[in-house]
Amino acid sequence: MDLGIHGRVALVAAASHGLGKAVALKLALEGARVAICARSEAVEDAAREIAGAAGGEVMAARADVTDAGQVARFVGAVRERFGAIDICVANAGGPPSKKFAETTVEDWRAGVDLNLMSTIHLARETLPGMRERGWGRFLAITSVAVKQPIEGLILSNSVRAAVVGLVKTLANEYGPYGVLVNNICPGYTATARLKSLRARLAAAEGVSEEEIERRWTAQIPRGRLGRVEEFADAAVFLVSERAGYINGVSLAVDGGLSKGLL
Ligand code: NAD
Repeated sequence: MDLGIHGRVALVAAASHGLGKAVALKLALEGARVAICARSEAVEDAAREIAGAAGGEVMAARADVTDAGQVARFVGAVRERFGAIDICVANAGGPPSKKFAETTVEDWRAGVDLNLMSTIHLARETLPGMRERGWGRFLAITSVAVKQPIEGLILSNSVRAAVVGLVKTLANEYGPYGVLVNNICPGYTATARLKSLRARLAAAEGVSEEEIERRWTAQIPRGRLGRVEEFADAAVFLVSERAGYINGVSLAVDGGLSKGLL
């Protein structure tokens, strides 16, 4: 299937590693002109790696997505280099795992900045142009936590639910202009973040990392962790021409982990 995104300009936030990087690579392989950001110089290595693998043009910039000014400068630089932005994938790191009793007011504020405000900053900078041109795709990367809360992750469980409300509302407001806004919800997917979470839980509980992974996979009907490429395939479809009638959904890519009906 031709996804119809050859030559489109795609911005992927927080993409020096993990899910964001995998999505950026897949977009580049589909012929999109891709711009990625992250906070450290690792973003330049990621861009070189993606360009080497896909052969296209990949732009890298250092930007912290929690900072409205840095997001605005990043988006402005992408426009200057590639022209109008067609696709925006809003991603950020994940908040720390905590229970309610140990979560401070500062933790809550940081969690809101990291996962809600970052999505808002990216939406504010990219949606007006998409609306003007009558075509656009905005995809928020959240978590399966929006389908089913994950134990010990109160910040993710709470703040990401607000992102779903945001996405659903933006889908209503921008759908009439050909700009489709969706949400994609990774389950347990093998990335650096998941490995560090596994190590922390193992240390905290005095069990092996294999035991933590066994507990996770026991809940997943597919019987294993997800692969970043599998997540990226679903994400790239959602931002493609072929997903022209998909708007306002929260798609779980979780191997069947979430047990609700929707
Ligand atoms: P990761 O830690 O491997 O990668 C996160 C990326 O975001 C890195 O490139 C990092 O440099 C960048 N980043 C972090 N904070 C940033 C900031 N403030 N500004 C700019 N860049 C920033 O994480 P991942 O596993 O790829 O996860 C991506 C998102 O998906 C996270 O929000 C995570 O919580 C969520 N998620 C992941 C899983 C999973 O199993 N991997 C499951 C559910 C949800």
